[in-house]
Amino acid sequence: MVKTKGYDVAIVGGGPAGMIAAYHAARSGSRVLIIDRMRPPGQKILLSGGGRCNILPLRLVDPSAYVSDSSVNILKKIILSWPLAEVRAFLSGPIGLKLIDKRKTGKVFPLFGGGEEVRNHMLAVVRQSGVEVRTGSAVVDIQPSQRRSVVLENGDSIVAERVILATGGMSYPQTGSDGTGFEIARRLGHSIVDPYPALVSLRGGSPAHHQLAGLSIPVTLSTGEGRSRLSVCGDFLFTHRGYSGPAVLNIAHVAARAADADESPKIEVAWSDRGAEEWEEILAPSGKTVRGVLKESLPDRLVDLLLDELELTNARLATLTRVDRKRLIAALTHYPLPWRRAGGWNEAEVTGGGVALSEVEPRTMRSRIVPQLYFCGEILDAFGPIGGTNFLWSFVTGKLAGKGAASD
Ligand SMILES: Cc1cc2nc3c(=O)[nH]c(=O)nc-3n(C[C@H](O)[C@H](O)[C@H](O)COP(=O)(O)OP(=O)(O)OC[C@H]3O[C@@H](n4cnc5c(N)ncnc54)[C@H](O)[C@@H]3O)c2cc1C
Repeated sequence: MVKTKGYDVAIVGGGPAGMIAAYHAARSGSRVLIIDRMRPPGQKILLSGGGRCNILPLRLVDPSAYVSDSSVNILKKIILSWPLAEVRAFLSGPIGLKLIDKRKTGKVFPLFGGGEEVRNHMLAVVRQSGVEVRTGSAVVDIQPSQRRSVVLENGDSIVAERVILATGGMSYPQTGSDGTGFEIARRLGHSIVDPYPALVSLRGGSPAHHQLAGLSIPVTLSTGEGRSRLSVCGDFLFTHRGYSGPAVLNIAHVAARAADADESPKIEVAWSDRGAEEWEEILAPSGKTVRGVLKESLPDRLVDLLLDELELTNARLATLTRVDRKRLIAALTHYPLPWRRAGGWNEAEVTGGGVALSEVEPRTMRSRIVPQLYFCGEILDAFGPIGGTNFLWSFVTGKLAGKGAASD
């Protein structure tokens, strides 16, 4: 077994979280090494935002919009520790990215290029800060001794005073994040909230639904009861296999998680922002056809689908029975989405679950269980909605972990 020279901080994983941690640790004077199994690292950044890389949200997202089994207070402490305006200034300053705002969608993108440009800029800046980057090396273990020993696949081990685990989760494993980080953390004594695919599309629906593939419409999706009720607004997209679009992605983790518990929670669709009372008025008896009236508010193909399913294709408002009017309004405001299952790891943009935040000190991301161990990024039990919130999470936790590990 070969032992190489020691480092102050070894970072396992050179994704956005690991790179930002490395930058801050190096700027604080530490000798820093990033180890990544991929060559070059940060490959998920290339896929992000459909290649365009939605690097930040335009406006701060309420920390309670992040999904985690941990308390919202811990989330708040972490997310608010680096104000959004300062993260943005950091990306356009030291990282050197020109950014552009998309006001309509509330997203921020790089002005030039996309994910590749972002990854290359970050990696270059990290290297210029004196960080060593070792690629093509998979870490299989971390040995707890007074100084941490990071064990590589080939049997070599690297000695460091502190180790940051920034291995990401399990989504898109071909980018290098295959869940080894969870195994290592678990072996070291950490509790891992069972990982589940999140920000993923749903499968299901009838052939008639699949024929609407490509149709996109703003909706509200809701699931759950009482305090665990979740409602999301946004675009809904019919696909050849089921449903996608931001609204679906932001709620699909409920379906993914339920699969483990052998449950299938109801997800309801409101096809417009009109409530039942408003529809009652619109659908009051008149000489018009139901179809004609609905087509004033909803896409033709959706109206045809709904009326077909309700067997009201040729119905007229004047002769609509009370029961049918009730069924119709229910379908417009509480349509039970016939999803069958959530997509898997190859499609999920992020991982739900991960290292429990309660076992991490929120000001430094230091493990409360294992001395000299830190975490940042997607390996932690939290993810945010579509819109740049997950890079934000990686940057904020990366900075905390990098500074924390450097000052320990
Ligand atoms: C298709 C897609 C689109 C996305 N779009 C967006 C978007 O537009 N906006 C947004 O905010 N978020 C987006 N995300 C999510 C975002 O990419 C992730 O939240 C973010 O990359 C997580 O950063 P990370 O550094 O924690 O993990 P990762 O980016 O997954 O990086 C982890 C790194 O660790 C390395 N690694 C893992 N295990 C080991 C090991 N055992 N040994 C050595 N190295 C290891 C991997 O090779 C990898 O380089 C998207 C994700 C996907 C998949």
